[in-house]
Amino acid sequence: FNRRLDLRGPDDEVGRLARTFDAMLTRLQLAFEQQRRFTADASHELRSPLTAIIGQIDVAVAQPRPAERYHDTLLNVREQAQRLARLTNDMLFLARSDAEPHPFTKEPLDLSQLLPAILAQLEPLAQARQQELSAEVLTPLLIEGNEDDLIRLFLNLIDNAIRYSPAGGSIRVAASAPAGTPGTIRVQVRDSGPGIAPEHIPHLFDRFFRVDRGRNRATGGTGLGLSIAQTIAQAHGGQLQVESAVGKGSTFTVILPCAAPPPPYQLPAQ
Ligand code: ADP
Repeated sequence: FNRRLDLRGPDDEVGRLARTFDAMLTRLQLAFEQQRRFTADASHELRSPLTAIIGQIDVAVAQPRPAERYHDTLLNVREQAQRLARLTNDMLFLARSDAEPHPFTKEPLDLSQLLPAILAQLEPLAQARQQELSAEVLTPLLIEGNEDDLIRLFLNLIDNAIRYSPAGGSIRVAASAPAGTPGTIRVQVRDSGPGIAPEHIPHLFDRFFRVDRGRNRATGGTGLGLSIAQTIAQAHGGQLQVESAVGKGSTFTVILPCAAPPPPYQLPAQ
């Protein structure tokens, strides 16, 4: 890789070929570097819960205690094991999505039915944090998509909004088909959390990126949620955008192409 072509050649066919090869090499180098970093980060992420599990077990084995005192150890070990399960699950999802073509089946769906079900699932978490979780969902919102993947996408965004907002905060979900951009559906998740500084925004969708590494890992996240959310939005021909300012909360916007509504029912000709 370090032996690059001399690109000062003439602007003839050989010179153009040399430059094409050079551009391909740069792309390959970038892909290798991303892969190397992913492997290094993944090993690091997997190692910390494993170290914690081994440590807890070592202590329990070295200092025998009455049976009921093992309960706390088991709870801690279970928490770390669940973290490992979340990590491997998220890593597997991304590995499958990297495979070409993206293995993914689509079906007609109505987001105005899917979103309330997702919100109902997260309501207890918001209530436990005394947060107000509200929604304004236009009906119908028809799209062609993969139900499991879309649930995962919106769960990730709304779960983040809840986890990063303070107790007593508010999270608003709005879904509509904006008049200005026909053919698209827009879902916005707005929170009253700490917001994200401009220098972090370009890295937000990178795998394992966290604004505050230590603290955010302690909250149980894998650092892969937004990367997965973006992958799913793009696999649906859509996009995921973020708008945020420190102290002003964050808004994540998913834009998806909408499915054509079914043709109006017509009476059969007599
Ligand atoms: P995590 O599992 O750490 O939540 P994500 O990929 O979902 O990983 O998010 C990446 C990082 O982006 C988070 O660690 C957090 O620092 C930041 N982040 C995500 N959502 C929000 C939000 N709604 N408000 C503030 N920061 C956020």
